[in-house]
Amino acid sequence: MLVSAKEMLEKAVAGHYAVGQFNINNLEWTKAILTAAQETKSPVILGVSEGAGKYMTGYKTVQAMVAAMVEEMGITVPVATHLDHGSYEGCKKCIEAGFTSIMFDGSKYPIEENVAKTKELIAICKEKGMSLEAEVGSIGGEEDGVIGQGECADPQECKMIADLGVDMLAAGIGNIHGKYPENWAGLSFETLDAIQQLTGDMPLVLHGGTGIPDDMIKKAIDLGVAKINVNTECQLVFAEATRQYIEAGKDQEGKGFDPRKLLKPGYEAIIEKVKEKMELFGSVGKAE
Ligand SMILES: [Zn+2]
Repeated sequence: MLVSAKEMLEKAVAGHYAVGQFNINNLEWTKAILTAAQETKSPVILGVSEGAGKYMTGYKTVQAMVAAMVEEMGITVPVATHLDHGSYEGCKKCIEAGFTSIMFDGSKYPIEENVAKTKELIAICKEKGMSLEAEVGSIGGEEDGVIGQGECADPQECKMIADLGVDMLAAGIGNIHGKYPENWAGLSFETLDAIQQLTGDMPLVLHGGTGIPDDMIKKAIDLGVAKINVNTECQLVFAEATRQYIEAGKDQEGKGFDPRKLLKPGYEAIIEKVKEKMELFGSVGKAE
């Protein structure tokens, strides 16, 4: 069923596990993630970046596709459609398109403007029963791969944003988007602990879940992380499985060129990867 992310994350905080946000790019991606969630009885958040939204011809298409799939596939676990790193304009479009959750990334604005826009969006989300994720500071990207440590958010600033009434909070704790550099210093549990002390039961979000060692993920969940974003990892396994299929010449055997056959290994690889992550995050069986 299609729901906001609020309740599933509150349950995750109380139950000391995390819900995965897996970004979608097309029909195969969405079907794979929904299949993994249903088979493992796990709540799930489908992340949609602005780029992916545009690629799929717009947020209305995305929302209509997910809503129809949830119905046609008989998905009973909680599913949220969530805008990932939304601009102010993107958030407005997703609200209109019927998304159940948005992330407002106001990190490019001065703090006063970020707060004003966040407050406005919170009011709209509350009225519509949607959930909202805010980001404090900014989270490094792969272009920053030369540095060994991602940024760390200021815990006081986290408290201020949390107190505005957001449903989940993304804060930099040394995490980075994309692949992690060789010399990465790891997550700053000191920062995470300080943030959690000040924000209490607020579900914390860990971006850049690809390549963080499993023991660090588990410790982060112990310290209040209730949502973990995974994107790159699904892309890597999809590309790998598709490459193997082509390199083995399978597209040239019989009707192996049929897109439903050609894309199947990648689709299956995403299901396996998502299940593996759900297991690690502890969300398996939590939607029963
Ligand atoms: Zn992110």
